[in-house]
Amino acid sequence: MNAQGADLKPVFLPFALPDIGEAEIAEVVECLRSGWITTGPKTARFEKEFAQYIGGGVEAIAVNSATAGLHLAVEALGIGPGDEVIVPVHTFTATAEIVRYMGADPVFVDVEPGTLNMDPTKIEAALTPRTKAIIPVHYAGLACNMAPIIEIARRNGLKIVEDAAHALPTTFGGANIGTLDTDATVFSFYATKTLATGEGGMLVTRNPAIAKRAKIMRLHGISRDVFDRYRAGGAWYYEVVAPGYKYNMTDVAAALGIHQLSRLAEMHSKREAIADIYRAAFGDLPLVQPSTAPSGDVHAWHLFPVRVTAAAGISRNELVERLGAKGIGVSVHYVPLHMHPYWRDRYHLKAEDFPASTAAYESMVSLPIYSKMSRDDVDRVVSAVRDALGEKRA
Ligand SMILES: *Cc1c(COP(=O)(O)O)cnc(C)c1O
Repeated sequence: MNAQGADLKPVFLPFALPDIGEAEIAEVVECLRSGWITTGPKTARFEKEFAQYIGGGVEAIAVNSATAGLHLAVEALGIGPGDEVIVPVHTFTATAEIVRYMGADPVFVDVEPGTLNMDPTKIEAALTPRTKAIIPVHYAGLACNMAPIIEIARRNGLKIVEDAAHALPTTFGGANIGTLDTDATVFSFYATKTLATGEGGMLVTRNPAIAKRAKIMRLHGISRDVFDRYRAGGAWYYEVVAPGYKYNMTDVAAALGIHQLSRLAEMHSKREAIADIYRAAFGDLPLVQPSTAPSGDVHAWHLFPVRVTAAAGISRNELVERLGAKGIGVSVHYVPLHMHPYWRDRYHLKAEDFPASTAAYESMVSLPIYSKMSRDDVDRVVSAVRDALGEKRA
């Protein structure tokens, strides 16, 4: 770009970028040269290493998206027509759509005004005799308060599937998400997530029945037991035991995942450092900063959502515009589900029934936070936010 161009239009800082290193690239090339590009040895290795990383004796089942993993989890739990599943309203549509895949109905609850995680005190009022499960979302990478959620589930005979799309690495009470006393946990490796394989996901569970069913259903309902039993005599024989899906992970994606996983701690410490810089730099501004993890726990910092307060004197939209003018890519997490036509109309949802989510949505902006950001990039975001809010102080 020439100097004049740079003056007119600042270099654009993307909202999110994957952090792909040379090891990932070499492993993908090796995969391509090997001739085995779909599910195979690299997927098996990624599953094994991921399960070891999470710990607690979990089994890890690789899939081609977190949406697929969530679908497999509710399918394995036998959720079906007539059933209800509790979901937070402040999430991505995938959390709720997989309930509809099963012909069941999501029941939406509001979030805590601070953390924007599912409000455990709102769950009991949403229960009916049809309620079968709860899907908490660890928003932005901060664990939900899982103790009351697990307690409510236990008392009412409900299953729990954790949407951990943001939660790698995240802990609750010192334990890795994925090892809590729940039925299944699903991570996302979408391009913008904290571990990126382009598209991909991982279902982890300690329940052998769920693991077995998910492994059958992720590949056309083909029973692996039969496949393995007959492999010695001839690889051609297999049995279809259910109308399954095409949700398997490719070895190309797993090649990325293996090295992303080995770099997770390094990438996470960079996200943490950016969060620390932002928090310190914005302390005097009219902003609500994102909640931090309780001491001793880990926040994945997938997102850094700030909220403008009334004292800012500018709207969220104005802040987005001012940051955009300075070349800072931002996003909003999320347009709550009750504001999307499908969910709003299908379930007659009203904004006033979700005051915390609605208020957060109206004032929120997610700032760039990813390990590829340089110190200059971070400083640019800080100056842009400070400039956009003028001399206004909290
Ligand atoms: C990204 C995301 C998903 C879906 O992940 P995919 O891997 O893209 O299917 C689900 N839930 C939440 C909260 C997400 O952010």
